[in-house]
Amino acid sequence: MIDFHTHTLLSDGALIPAEHIRRAEVKGYRVLGLADHVDLSTMAHVLPVLCEAAARENELGRLTVIVGVELTHLRPNQFAAAARRARELGAQVVLAHGQTPVEPVEPGTNRAAIEAGVDILAHPGLLTLDEAALAAQRGVCLEITSKPGHCLTNGHVARLSREVGAKLLFGSDAHTPDQMPTRPFAETVCLGAGLTEKDVAAIFACAEQFAQAHGA
Ligand SMILES: [Zn+2]
Ligand SMILES: [Zn+2]
Repeated sequence: MIDFHTHTLLSDGALIPAEHIRRAEVKGYRVLGLADHVDLSTMAHVLPVLCEAAARENELGRLTVIVGVELTHLRPNQFAAAARRARELGAQVVLAHGQTPVEPVEPGTNRAAIEAGVDILAHPGLLTLDEAALAAQRGVCLEITSKPGHCLTNGHVARLSREVGAKLLFGSDAHTPDQMPTRPFAETVCLGAGLTEKDVAAIFACAEQFAQAHGA
């Protein structure tokens, strides 16, 4: 399994990094992204801890841990500075907490995150065709998610991405070990979004390339 979107108790996940990593290993993960929620006030505290957790695990040569952050509930005009700062602090992958249908994420967030050049726009909800086209043009990946609530608009995201040629990635958004999917379940979620077997193969091929580009 390859998944760039999970949370530890450095934000609102359940487990410290060591147990989170071990639980993912038992679930069959090969590449695990730690992408805790941060804002401009917390990233300088969270990222050094995630970097240390990843470095300690990665020297063992078992699964590969990728350091990320999820820029969450920022004001739209803060995304560019936040994405830059996160990379300076060691984030290999920058996600944005998109306009999910189940939270009052500020309108304008999807566009601001894409324009800021995040790597992955997580759970983008009812993003517009223009935003999807901009994501395709900027190389920002759109997420298909297994997280309850956030997943309600997977079909819409899949349809728009096909229309404009935007890249898709699967992300579990797991906050607890029971939310860490097996690869077959992740594929089922993608198929449930209306994607074809060929699309799903492309999603995981893209994830593989993405992982290699980010040090896996
Ligand atoms: Zn999120
Ligand atoms: Zn998340």
